[in-house]
Amino acid sequence: MTRREETVSSLTPDSNQLKVTFIADAMLGRLARWLRFLGFDTVYFSGISDASLIRIALEQSRTILTRDTRLLRVKGLRSYLLIASDDPFQQLLETISTFKLRQFRLLSRCVKCNGKLQKIQDKSEVKDSVPEYVFLHYNLFQKCADCGKIYWEGTHPRKFREEIQGIFRDS
Ligand SMILES: [Zn+2]
Repeated sequence: MTRREETVSSLTPDSNQLKVTFIADAMLGRLARWLRFLGFDTVYFSGISDASLIRIALEQSRTILTRDTRLLRVKGLRSYLLIASDDPFQQLLETISTFKLRQFRLLSRCVKCNGKLQKIQDKSEVKDSVPEYVFLHYNLFQKCADCGKIYWEGTHPRKFREEIQGIFRDS
């Protein structure tokens, strides 16, 4: 017997944690990077038209993140969040609290292109691609499957992790 899902308003769906996927409008590039940083699948194109954005959102069942009320007048949108703040970090907090995001997977998605990161087994592979001190001081490296960007633990500042943790202590 399958447990029947509670009917949630179609415009504010239950995030189901990491399964929620986003598409950010052209004004929200930095928010998109923050979300990827936390492991959320977030599509973003800097010059995207409203029509394309809506088409991708519907085709891929993505939640639209936007600051544009005009865009939300389009009929048939299934899931969106109108972002109030100008500040990228506040925008991130709005998104986190609206969708009750609690599970983050740092070092799982490329901040630059949203590709998935893959663990590099043999660190000598990255010797020529990262600064020497990084190669010497870090052992865990990952590579974006799409654009090839190399990531290591130090790419994600501890201070940011602490700020994120702080949000949950307060809530
Ligand atoms: Zn990438």
